[in-house]
Amino acid sequence: MKRFTVLVIMVCAAASAAAQQENPDPQLSVFHTISSERLLAYADTLSSPGFGGRLTGSPGFTAAAQWVAGYLERWGLQPAGDASTYFQTFEIPWVEVKDAGALGLHLSGNDGEMLDKWYRPVADFYPGTNSDSGSVTAEVIYAGHGVTAPERGYDDYAGIDVRGKIVLIDIDVPVSRDDDQYADWVPYCYHQYKLNNAAAHGAAGLLYVNHIANPNTSYNEGLIYCHISGAVAEDIFFNTGKSYSGVKKRIQDTRSPASFATGKTVTITAHTVFHPRGEGCNVAGLIPGSDPKLKEEVIIVGGHLDGVGDLGFLLPGALDNGSGVANMMEAARALAQSPVAPKRSILFLFIGGEECGLLGSQLYCRNPLFPKENTVAYFNLDMVGTGSGLRVGGVESFPLIEACFTRANDQYIHRPLRVSEYREPGVGRPRSDGVIFAREGYRSFSFGTFRQEGDPRTPTYYHHPLDRIDTLDPEIMEDVAKLMYLGLTRMARADRLFR
Ligand SMILES: [Zn+2]
Repeated sequence: MKRFTVLVIMVCAAASAAAQQENPDPQLSVFHTISSERLLAYADTLSSPGFGGRLTGSPGFTAAAQWVAGYLERWGLQPAGDASTYFQTFEIPWVEVKDAGALGLHLSGNDGEMLDKWYRPVADFYPGTNSDSGSVTAEVIYAGHGVTAPERGYDDYAGIDVRGKIVLIDIDVPVSRDDDQYADWVPYCYHQYKLNNAAAHGAAGLLYVNHIANPNTSYNEGLIYCHISGAVAEDIFFNTGKSYSGVKKRIQDTRSPASFATGKTVTITAHTVFHPRGEGCNVAGLIPGSDPKLKEEVIIVGGHLDGVGDLGFLLPGALDNGSGVANMMEAARALAQSPVAPKRSILFLFIGGEECGLLGSQLYCRNPLFPKENTVAYFNLDMVGTGSGLRVGGVESFPLIEACFTRANDQYIHRPLRVSEYREPGVGRPRSDGVIFAREGYRSFSFGTFRQEGDPRTPTYYHHPLDRIDTLDPEIMEDVAKLMYLGLTRMARADRLFR
């Protein structure tokens, strides 16, 4: 070999080594643009008053859906909804809550004088998201779980007359979740069922011991209701010779109703406007696969865009689920701008109506935008924004998929990463979009985060006015988006995902 040739080879080798060092992995250029600042900015906008808490059907939700779609378009994701739009729409009635309303207990003193105790919104009660408008003052009748189950020989409404009265009822059913018979009681677990059953029995008002802002209920004309704390229920039981907690326990122990008239008078006031013909939607954007064959296979990344709205006070929904939506947006941007094209297709699905009873995920499963048999996995994100550890749920049972995420983390992210075995969904009332997909036969995984010992304990506020961005940990959100970007790229490029 001539000296010149040797020199050329040496120079070329050195240059390529330098190039490799400068840019060892083409994915990294985009990887480094994933930023906690941008993630926090997304979550901030999502939880801002402009989107009004994102109750599905409300103008705030529609504005949030258009805002997300605008980004998807800017980043070049293809519209994957109805008629070449980003939206998969559905009808949904909704209720506008004008203010927090009022809740008062009227007690008669020993001298026959009336004493009024007025309760505080949030601390003591939440207005009903689907309450009729108006005011009701009436006697309170305790009606256990509010269940009429003739085939189980159980009726909380037997032997009481609640017409024109206010019923006081508990969440759940007389058997616990770990009981063998629980499956038979599932139809009676739904909040909608309980409200409808109270209305069917002629109740004019309802106090629901479920101290939370919750739109997963139903509107019944003539029924005014609110959600109360256990302490308010104890006040109503005061001087009846029974305690609320004692009666509740007895119903569980004996599985027989213990309904009775409390002799107490309560006022519930609600200011609402019913909109029977609202519209909700899922927002769907696709990154099409680059491989002529593998592009037919689809990975869905889903998370709910909606929140619990505004009850005269804003419920920002920063963690639930502004965090998941922000992570999805940043991962979608990175994947769309990546120089390493995914061979399989990736669908980003921002789901509506989750808080109203998992409506958007059920709609998708009834009307899938891509064939179910070609959908290789569904990943759910819900409340993914606190702590310092990462989690990918369900992938441990699929080692080729698991490796996509564990290797990406080992190589570039270096967070504690937990994976878990795949678990078939249980029989109870489904509580996440992931369960809806799993029950439809999709392989349903999840992205999550967890707190390690020593993490700062920012409290989490669930369906609460303090669910604001100051409770989020932007650094872990950045790493969720990075893990999604790298891991989903690997999944979308792997020759095989299953052994
Ligand atoms: Zn949620």
